[in-house]
Amino acid sequence: MPESNNVNCVTFENIGSFPVSNIYCVGRNYAKHAKELGNAPPKERPIIFLKTSSSLRGLEPQPIGFKDDFFHHEIELVLYVGSPLALGAKGDWTHIEGIALGIDLTRREEQSQLKASGLPWTTAKSFAGSAIVSPFLAKSVWTPQRSFSFSLAINDQVDRQVGDTNDMIFDVPEILTYLASFNELKRGDLIFTGTPEGVGPVKKGDRMTLKLLSPSRTWHGKL
Ligand code: MG
Repeated sequence: MPESNNVNCVTFENIGSFPVSNIYCVGRNYAKHAKELGNAPPKERPIIFLKTSSSLRGLEPQPIGFKDDFFHHEIELVLYVGSPLALGAKGDWTHIEGIALGIDLTRREEQSQLKASGLPWTTAKSFAGSAIVSPFLAKSVWTPQRSFSFSLAINDQVDRQVGDTNDMIFDVPEILTYLASFNELKRGDLIFTGTPEGVGPVKKGDRMTLKLLSPSRTWHGKL
């Protein structure tokens, strides 16, 4: 059988592209963001939802699965799982092969309505173009740390969102351990780790500038 080219991939800076399997997302992982949407921050365990791998895109413009006038941007640190984590195993940074910045593009009104009705968030969170990622940085250019600072500019509005992973309620090892408590983590799984406060509207054609402080990278894209 010919090899399928219908595999969604992400790019690693200066290395090449690698396939993606599952896309896990953490909700309400920053207390101030939970508060700005009127939600209580989770205490016991992370809130997890999924995006299909077909939702994935890079920073170049792509068709979006819904024709809404506005979406909401959520900038997040994104992890690429490099080595599998067995069901029930304890996770740590050694399982992470790459980091990137990403935007969890959200249909906020749809999400609010679904939430109010007690229905799944899928059509608010998972659609073509909703999982936006910068190029990934391999382990050789960063070290595992509690604090990664990042920001998002939309058009000429700098610092629409400014965040630091030090403010995450559940840190990277805790997220990995929790995910592996009910699913084996596979090589190629992505994890969106949650967004800080400052989420807001963004529309098709808007310019997006994603900045990581250390290692220092600035990525430009367009919705
Ligand atoms: Mg999010």
